[in-house]
Amino acid sequence: MSIEREYTLTCSCGRMFHADLYDSVNVTAEPELRASILARNLNVVECPRCHRQAYVDKPFLYHDMERELLLYIYPAACAPQEAGLRAEISRCVRRIPHQAALQRKKIDVVFGMDRLVALLSAQDAGTPRAERN
Ligand SMILES: [Zn+2]
Repeated sequence: MSIEREYTLTCSCGRMFHADLYDSVNVTAEPELRASILARNLNVVECPRCHRQAYVDKPFLYHDMERELLLYIYPAACAPQEAGLRAEISRCVRRIPHQAALQRKKIDVVFGMDRLVALLSAQDAGTPRAERN
């Protein structure tokens, strides 16, 4: 299941507004969200005053049940903290009750939408990265 939550954002023009953003994306249940990512429409908001559109670079979970792929998408700016984030994620995963199901999955961290789009494009191109044999 995908999870969408309301966030309060401030545009560079100073206007505050609310927008629904994805915290978690299940592309098996909602394949159109995978298409949104490839089209760079996911978590993109428009300011109601100046109509500036912006991608909100916030962490979210990308879940592809068919490929047994679980990705934590972090802002590209977080890449220098990679070691700490990976440690935090493994701590969180250990607290999840149905761990056995998660252990079968490939869990990884991706920094930035650019890298996620590149990874999904590679899946579509059928490069070895998409295969899990
Ligand atoms: Zn604005």
